[in-house]
Amino acid sequence: MHDATLKTLSDALAARKLSSVEATELFLGRIRTLNGRYNCFITVDEDRSLAQAKEADAARAAGRAEPLTGIPIAQKDIFCAKGWLTTCASKMLSNFVSPYDAHVVERFNRAGAVIIGKTNMDEFAMGSSNETSWYGPVRNPWDTDRVPGGSSGGSAAALAARLVPAATGTDTGGSIRQPCALTGTCGLKPTYGLVSRYGMIAFASSLDQGGPMARTAEDLALMLNTMVGFDLRDSTSLDRPVEDYMSDLQQSVRGLRIGLPREFFAEGLQPDVAKVVEAAVAQYKALGCKITEVALPNMGLSVPVYYVLAPAEASSNLARFDGVRYGYRTPQYRDLNEMYEKTRAEGFGAEVKRRILIGTYVLSHGYYDAYYIRAQKVRRLIAEDFARAFEKCDVIMGPTSPTTAFKLGEKAADPLQMYLSDIYTIAVNLAGLPGMSIPCGFDTQGLPVGLQIIGNYFREAQMLNVAHQYQLATDWHSRVPPHI
Ligand code: GLN
Repeated sequence: MHDATLKTLSDALAARKLSSVEATELFLGRIRTLNGRYNCFITVDEDRSLAQAKEADAARAAGRAEPLTGIPIAQKDIFCAKGWLTTCASKMLSNFVSPYDAHVVERFNRAGAVIIGKTNMDEFAMGSSNETSWYGPVRNPWDTDRVPGGSSGGSAAALAARLVPAATGTDTGGSIRQPCALTGTCGLKPTYGLVSRYGMIAFASSLDQGGPMARTAEDLALMLNTMVGFDLRDSTSLDRPVEDYMSDLQQSVRGLRIGLPREFFAEGLQPDVAKVVEAAVAQYKALGCKITEVALPNMGLSVPVYYVLAPAEASSNLARFDGVRYGYRTPQYRDLNEMYEKTRAEGFGAEVKRRILIGTYVLSHGYYDAYYIRAQKVRRLIAEDFARAFEKCDVIMGPTSPTTAFKLGEKAADPLQMYLSDIYTIAVNLAGLPGMSIPCGFDTQGLPVGLQIIGNYFREAQMLNVAHQYQLATDWHSRVPPHI
């Protein structure tokens, strides 16, 4: 049963073959025995989860059940959840019990889902390996000497190790898609503005987007139905007609035009990753899709542009952590200034400080035009590249990550190498487009490879259809790590 998809669990609950308390106890038991090996969770609160499960069973008995009622779902520790420790994997918030729910958490609660715990992540979602967490690194269930990717690495590893059937993530430059690729799981970053950022601790607000992580495209669709929705409390939330993301799953993909950007298959791509992704494209061809080449000429500038804009926004967003109202405060100080300085020096880790320094620099008088404004202009050019590409195709495909899971410590001392982990994902955030990753095979060492599917704005239903049809024809998504 721990290998069951969200859909299977949902059907079993509906058929009364399983209660929510049973399902919750099952996954809590797995977390109890296996979390020590992977470090996927920062907080588990069995009593709280079981209380929610009992409520879900009561709701079902009273005839008030929805598809997610009673399903245990892990929340990335970037989402505020009332009464739960919410740390963002930082010492700065290591004592912060949230007094309110994020929009996403509120939605899952209303749907009757059970919070099974808060997952580990890179500190303030800054990283691609989960090594920047104040709570220690997460280990990849496919090989515990390797990273699970980041920043949503705890959610991804928990899914791969079958500790949870579903989890949430956030993606600012690749943090849902890249860890999904490295752990053989599925994740979707929605169009910017589709999922409210209210109560999702801010990193780079013009790029941050929450999204679902699971083991099948069908499960992502189920979750997205709950996560998407207009929210007045987020000024960039979009007021659009409600969609059912399950409705298009069964459609044929015959005639679908798939664009392959030549920039996605250039230098730097691990050769066996390229082969596996090409085989996935061949599978789509066999399903009747038409393959065309497209160009994204400004793609190469996406990493440098991101590392101007994201730190700029982060330096501003993280100014709120000053030891005054909540979070960590240094124990000893002589005056207010020293309190600020010591609190921030002690509360933030090295990567977060690096980003604050870069961000403050590029926004400073004299450099603002040269860096920040110029980066904004290139950001527009990158979005226009995609607009032109989508005139020739319906979806874009390529690798999610240039490599499979790397060793713990391998890139930790070299920020630039680490930043290149997101070379294929970052442009999607800069353009505000939806992107997803699904497993499509293994490299020569038996490590999972992710296929990235990028859609046009609001084409999530179509992308999920494209992914689901592939998963009907292949079984990469149901492969389980060796010792699980
Ligand atoms: N790895 C990228 C970074 O460090 C993206 C992280 C994210 O998407 N949150 O900023």
